[in-house]
Amino acid sequence: MPQKTTKFIFVTGGVVSGLGKGVASASIGALMENRGLKISMLKMDPYINVDPGTMNPYQHGEVFVTDDGTESDLDLGHYERFTSVSMSATNNCTTGQVYDTVIGKERRGEYLGKTVQVIPHVTDEIKSRIYRAAKDVDVCIIEVGGTIGDIEGLHFIEAIRQMRTDVGTENSLFIHLTLVPFIKAVGEMKTKPTQHSVKALREFGIQPDIILCRCEQPLEKDLKDKIALFCSTSKDTVFDCPDVDTIYAVPAMLKEQGLDDKVAEKLNIWSRASELEPWREVVQTLRNPKNAAKIGVVGKYVHLIDSYKSLHEALLHGGLASGGCVELVYVDSESLESGDPGMLAEVDGILVPGGFGERGTEGKIQAVRYARENRVPIFGICLGLQMMVIEFARHVAGLDRANSTEFDASTPYPVIDLMESQRGVANKGATMRLGAYPCRLVPGSKAQQAYQNQDISERHRHRYEVNNDFRAQLVEKGLMFSGLSPDQQLVEMCEIADHPWFVGCQFHPEFKSKPFLPHPLFAAFVKAASENKK
Ligand code: GLN
Repeated sequence: MPQKTTKFIFVTGGVVSGLGKGVASASIGALMENRGLKISMLKMDPYINVDPGTMNPYQHGEVFVTDDGTESDLDLGHYERFTSVSMSATNNCTTGQVYDTVIGKERRGEYLGKTVQVIPHVTDEIKSRIYRAAKDVDVCIIEVGGTIGDIEGLHFIEAIRQMRTDVGTENSLFIHLTLVPFIKAVGEMKTKPTQHSVKALREFGIQPDIILCRCEQPLEKDLKDKIALFCSTSKDTVFDCPDVDTIYAVPAMLKEQGLDDKVAEKLNIWSRASELEPWREVVQTLRNPKNAAKIGVVGKYVHLIDSYKSLHEALLHGGLASGGCVELVYVDSESLESGDPGMLAEVDGILVPGGFGERGTEGKIQAVRYARENRVPIFGICLGLQMMVIEFARHVAGLDRANSTEFDASTPYPVIDLMESQRGVANKGATMRLGAYPCRLVPGSKAQQAYQNQDISERHRHRYEVNNDFRAQLVEKGLMFSGLSPDQQLVEMCEIADHPWFVGCQFHPEFKSKPFLPHPLFAAFVKAASENKK
């Protein structure tokens, strides 16, 4: 059997961060997969943290969780939403992980006699991780985090430079995403930052094969030609990626310019052409919203929407499921603490997302109370479920000052508490209940009706759980635990039967929602909110 030749596409970013390199990489993945190729993706993050699990969402945005319990970069969420590939630990690699492995090997004596250096030891470790991510696929897309010129990303750039020598020009492709800003004062788009960025890339020995220009408006041909001339690429390898109203428009926009054909030509890949009609339909629906339900997201990190990336997308997918749309308003939970519902009085549905730490929790509890008493559809996710249980305990079951021991260690009614296995956990990294766990749903519950299934599996990321000591009391007052672990020891979902839609889940369903496969709970929640339209 001839060995399958894997093609490697490296995506680097220039000029500034925040250009949407993750979405561009995911779109390239979607295009290649659409051509019938088996793909894989890898995000390489330059920071020294082993994973983003211990980082504040303001620092890093959302922490995405995969089935195998890896806490990863949010770009893996884009990869899963845009392609059919399931991400795992092999699809994200950080400087911290690379050094951890290299130093571990050194301590075990695996480099005996040698001076351990960035080249070749660190770069070899990076390359072995690239090969691992690319195992058994036709095309592997490797996104290098950060911006060209960052000191902290140099080892990754050096590793991918070496890869071209290792696998050959016909099996490797460098795509550089840069910015072509519009300078208002002169009324012109400027190519100089791109020229400089490509120059920086060349200083590290990498000549980009394709240049993808982020810009506000499409680039005129003469500007593309100018970029090609200054950056030593051919004219037909400069593409643009103008601002779009929805990220789901990116794959078709790139296809229309022939990007995937060019990639296939350069890598000598023989495959069918891509067919993006379903993508166009999604965009069409999003652009022509029918009967948009207004959803209030009550959170703590509302000033950085990236903190709720998957949630935001899952709500849009929920809207797509009913051919309609959602309008999202982010409400700062602290603003609700006085008891005044404020913006909540205008929404059709309320979502309380996950979170950590006490700040803002009383506002979230107020939001739950408002939704329960006013019969507004409400969806609580992870911390959101915990807030629902606390609110119900306090105001329906009469357990005054009920709380989670995360926020009040001396509460008389610790309705949310640490699991036995979490007590005394000293290491903070990767020690939560993480990844996929099975759950069994109560027949006839709203949860079971949404899933149309009794046995489900969803991804978790939390330390605290519903305290079993209070379950009977809460059930007696009308809170249904509609999803339990198969051994019935862990509460996974709750709901109130006599309410239009009061559903909470201890897991994070947003991580598994896709535009073509909206998550059933989001679809059901948005439907309930549309039926409650003001
Ligand atoms: N802070 C809560 C816990 O650790 C909820 C976590 C979350 O919402 N992801 O259990």
